[in-house]
Amino acid sequence: MAFLVKKFGGTSVGTVERIKHVAKLLVAAKQSGDDVVVVVSAMSGETNRLVALAREMMPAVVDVRELDVLLSTGEQVTIALLAMALKELGVEARSYTGSQVRILTDSSHSKARIINIDKAPIMNDIEQGHIVVVAGFQGVDERGNITTLGRGGSDTSAVALAAALGCDECQIYTDVDGVYTTDPRVESRARRLEKITFEEMLEMASLGSKVLQIRAVEFAGKYNVPLRVLSSFEPGDGTLITLDDEENQMEQALVSGIAFNRDEAQITVAGVADKPGIAYSILGPIADLNIEVDVILQNIGENGLTDFTFTVHRDEYGRVIEFLKSRQDELGAELIHGNDRIVKLSIVGVGMRSHAGIASRMFKALADNGINLRMITTSEIKISVVIDENFLELGVRSLHEEFELAEPTQTS
Ligand code: ASP
Ligand code: MG
Repeated sequence: MAFLVKKFGGTSVGTVERIKHVAKLLVAAKQSGDDVVVVVSAMSGETNRLVALAREMMPAVVDVRELDVLLSTGEQVTIALLAMALKELGVEARSYTGSQVRILTDSSHSKARIINIDKAPIMNDIEQGHIVVVAGFQGVDERGNITTLGRGGSDTSAVALAAALGCDECQIYTDVDGVYTTDPRVESRARRLEKITFEEMLEMASLGSKVLQIRAVEFAGKYNVPLRVLSSFEPGDGTLITLDDEENQMEQALVSGIAFNRDEAQITVAGVADKPGIAYSILGPIADLNIEVDVILQNIGENGLTDFTFTVHRDEYGRVIEFLKSRQDELGAELIHGNDRIVKLSIVGVGMRSHAGIASRMFKALADNGINLRMITTSEIKISVVIDENFLELGVRSLHEEFELAEPTQTS
């Protein structure tokens, strides 16, 4: 018997049939003795459709208050339909919008932060044996205005509810059956992880494994809410995301996963004066343009000159190159050049904290495959390299092999 929040994303509630299927899963959980609060997204495609409608009405400035009123309707549809489906199966259920539960948020429309959740009404229903169905992605501010939490925000709603209600687990149902050692489309032998830590998940997510909303993982880590990613279509245990403590001993892997990001481009400002303030004079104005810089590398100076290399999102590549060229004289740079055909490849694992030599194993595996490393950066639980995009697949597979992440092969 457990007290659970179960969250179903847009594809899981995309049609009437699928909502009926979700209702059956919930009834089974209830019959096995679990208490359940359900959080749902809008039907897949619905939020995009509503955004498009708003743009048609107000092409230039979209009024964010009214946009939130509009966008919150997507989830209002699915909570009602799911509650109906549950009742049809003979289970008592009640649906609530964010403002009815009172998921209190600040007033930043379209990216609101949750401040407080009223537990009492939900607990009251749970005690009476009801399944409680709550609209994801939305809340209400102090003055009663409807707010939304940002795209993909239902994950955050679910985690916040699980934290506020003191649930045993927050289960996120989606169209994949868990978090994998790497993208199965690149390495078919990728394996579903049984457990992973919050920290590792954050690194995997921010590096491009888009299973969960990053903010939801941060929230879960902060309040120590165990998260589980599961498929709504195939039965299974999914992947549990927890703290790395005695209770949740992680599989003793050195490396838990291989992540990659195809969206980066590399830019070099060569032959600038090696003096205080040079990094700031290059990167400060780029930050002012609201452009995010990822990997940063500065060379040891020689003859008073140094080279400076960094990566940005590929979409910003042309803009940044042009901007730097326009400032080339001011910066006193000899050359500004770049490459937008690169990718970042990373290994992630809490095991790195306690083991030396992981980096050199990574570099050797890549070298053995003739892969040139353009940039290297490390953090406590991650090592990333920047390589030519043509070598991405080979790189992922060789690291997956080196760190023995694949499913053990069946020997006959
Ligand atoms: N329906 C919202 C969106 O599409 C929230 C969510 O699905 O989590 O972004
Ligand atoms: Mg989602």
